[in-house]
Amino acid sequence: MPASPTESNAVHCPRPSPAQDMKRKRALELQRSWGDRPCPHPALAKEYDLGQRTGNFVCTQCGAILSHREKLEWKGSV
Ligand SMILES: [Zn+2]
Repeated sequence: MPASPTESNAVHCPRPSPAQDMKRKRALELQRSWGDRPCPHPALAKEYDLGQRTGNFVCTQCGAILSHREKLEWKGSV
C-alpha cells in the first residue's frame, strides 16, 4: 500500500511578492521624496511601466533606476 500524500509540503509561491514590482511613476515619486541623499540601494525591484517590464531595476528606497547592466555592476561593487 503506497503512502498517501496527505502531508503535501508543496506550498511555494511561484510569484514574487508585490513589493518586487515597481512602477516607473512610483519610482519618480520616490526619487522626489528621497532627494539628493546618498543611498546604498539596499533593495531593488523590477521596474514596470504601463504594465510591461522595462528590464530596469528600481531602488525601493530612493527610487533610483538602474539598468540591468548597472544592477550587475552595483552588485559586483558591494
Ligand atoms: Zn537607492
